[in-house]
Amino acid sequence: MGSRRGESSFRGRVVTPRWPGYHYLVQWDLEPVMECLVCGDERHETFFDQDIRKLPLRFVKCRNCSLVFQSPRLTRECSERYFDSQIFQKDCESIDFDLKSPLGYPDYADWDKSYQETAFLRLKRIRQFRKAPGRLLEIGPATGAFLACARNAGYEVSGLDASSSLADVARKRHDLEIETAFIEESDLPEAFYDIICAFGGISCWRDPVKALKKINRALKPDGILTINYPDLNAFVPRVMGKRYFEFNPASFTIFSRTTLRRCLEGVGLEPLFSQSERQVASLGRVFSYLKAEKLERITRHFKINAFQIPVIVSGTVFEICGKKSANG
Ligand SMILES: [Zn+2]
Repeated sequence: MGSRRGESSFRGRVVTPRWPGYHYLVQWDLEPVMECLVCGDERHETFFDQDIRKLPLRFVKCRNCSLVFQSPRLTRECSERYFDSQIFQKDCESIDFDLKSPLGYPDYADWDKSYQETAFLRLKRIRQFRKAPGRLLEIGPATGAFLACARNAGYEVSGLDASSSLADVARKRHDLEIETAFIEESDLPEAFYDIICAFGGISCWRDPVKALKKINRALKPDGILTINYPDLNAFVPRVMGKRYFEFNPASFTIFSRTTLRRCLEGVGLEPLFSQSERQVASLGRVFSYLKAEKLERITRHFKINAFQIPVIVSGTVFEICGKKSANG
């Protein structure tokens, strides 16, 4: 079915809720970001400037530390609505959906099927640094697939999510303990966790330095932070250019290895292990990320879009970090 065009994409389409507490974005409210989120410098240059389905999307690059961040970006209240909205979680149902100009996940629930397999791959690497038992917190657990696997592996798990509708799904689906809050505004206990994880989340944090400081404080002296993030300087983003999938309203910051390392260093953390992200993904998801519309349509036509394959996500970094003082 073709999508109807010409209607204002400034309003999220109201559809029948599939998940409990599913909310809708009604208005995009934007605010400028005057200072670099990492170094505080006010000098920056335009890095990306394009309308995505009528939403003006602009990224700037800091002249001092080269950090790329979104400005203007969604206000705090608007981003809360956005992470809870149909556009963010199931963009394919938007009236003006266009795979080449995504405003959210095409269908998070569909991709979620592969997240359990990916969770095993992640746990295998985490276990090399911290074996169970231990307290594990995931920031941005979404539907809870990773936390459920970690609990089965013997960890004592909990989650923190900015989206109340996704938190509800995780609670109901896996009987998990999930707090709803932005990491920057959360009240994490001091020296409490053995492991804190954030997969695909760090680019959505409004204040990554403040968030990382909170995480560092909440980790035990020998605790580890496990993250993944897209490296803007890698081959895939360079080749994709303006089509790169990180240029979307949810990515407040697009890090590179260099800018993230500087950020970690500033809060007293350092990488202990780093490699390209390993995931299990459906063919549909791989082609959606690459914005290969024709291939995505072909796989759907032959009903092989849900077929799962192991992939090394070149350009996305999987990193395990520890406290600087604890490691010399
Ligand atoms: Zn900067």
